[in-house]
Amino acid sequence: EAKMQGRNGYRFFNPTMNERNTARVRIEVELRKALARNELSLHYQPKVDVELGTIIGAEALLRWQMDGEDVYSPEQFIPVAEDCGLIVPIGEWALREACRQAEAWTRLYRPLSVSVNVSALQFQHTRFFESLRAVLADTGLHPTLLELEVTERTVMEGGDHIAELLRKIKSLGVALSLDDFGTGYCSLAYLKHFPVDILKIDRAFIRDVAWDNDSAAIVGAIVGLGKGMNKQVLAEGVESMEQATFLGSAGCSQMQGFLFGKPMTAREFEERIAVVDTGDPTVTPD
Ligand code: C2E
Ligand code: MG
Ligand code: MG
Ligand code: MG
Repeated sequence: EAKMQGRNGYRFFNPTMNERNTARVRIEVELRKALARNELSLHYQPKVDVELGTIIGAEALLRWQMDGEDVYSPEQFIPVAEDCGLIVPIGEWALREACRQAEAWTRLYRPLSVSVNVSALQFQHTRFFESLRAVLADTGLHPTLLELEVTERTVMEGGDHIAELLRKIKSLGVALSLDDFGTGYCSLAYLKHFPVDILKIDRAFIRDVAWDNDSAAIVGAIVGLGKGMNKQVLAEGVESMEQATFLGSAGCSQMQGFLFGKPMTAREFEERIAVVDTGDPTVTPD
């Protein structure tokens, strides 16, 4: 509200800002209804290890759909959910649902990990750690099969208690990854203080990696950094064989992207696991 005040206390009028606020309010109102109607779900995108030649797990991604069509994309509704605090119950639901699903898959097929995105606001919420512990206990998922994705922003803005919180989370055996790595304003020194296990190279660097020297150098440097600091490195947004080949030769064997599968329903993910595990070469996924 303070941001809306002009310097002399008068509200300034900015039509663009006004339209944006109207859109936000509309999304918020619809989001509350969507929650009551269970219109939110999780889709799962495979994470692969090309060296092992296998799917190692999935990233859980929120979807808001009606009749299989997106109502709003996560990029549209998650910032609104963060602004109005709804991200806390939504995020808690997503965490529980993803853990329940990964435990079921692990029981049915083989150990499969799941990554869940966590917003800064969830971390600021005092109950987060307790609810994480409760979710693990209730679902029975082995903590090492859970990965929480945080961004550089979350870590930077998290305040004093964030390092302590991350350490407590790690002590449970849960893995931590730094999402969209390289795009935030995190200084490298932060990597010394925050105990993340995995660096997820943002897809902005992967996009041009096969032909742009600068992107290739950045990716190579992140892989080297990961190796030196004993962290895993995963490349996001891998769309082509050329990119995958470059990454493989650069020593980054963990990948995620449309080349290996778009985010899909839980059912579709199960079918993918079944096909891959059977290893039937006549069945090509997608
Ligand atoms: P993210 O965590 O970086 O997730 C990766 C995004 O990249 C996903 O977008 C995914 O669909 C997209 N992607 C994956 N592979 C490719 C590719 O090869 N090419 C291209 N062009 N895109 C690819 P999505 O699902 O729209 O999610 C967007 C963002 O919304 C996520 O970025 C994450 O920051 C946020 N988000 C999604 N689900 C949750 C959630 O449960 N909680 C929170 N806090 N944030 C979430
Ligand atoms: Mg993510
Ligand atoms: Mg990402
Ligand atoms: Mg992103």
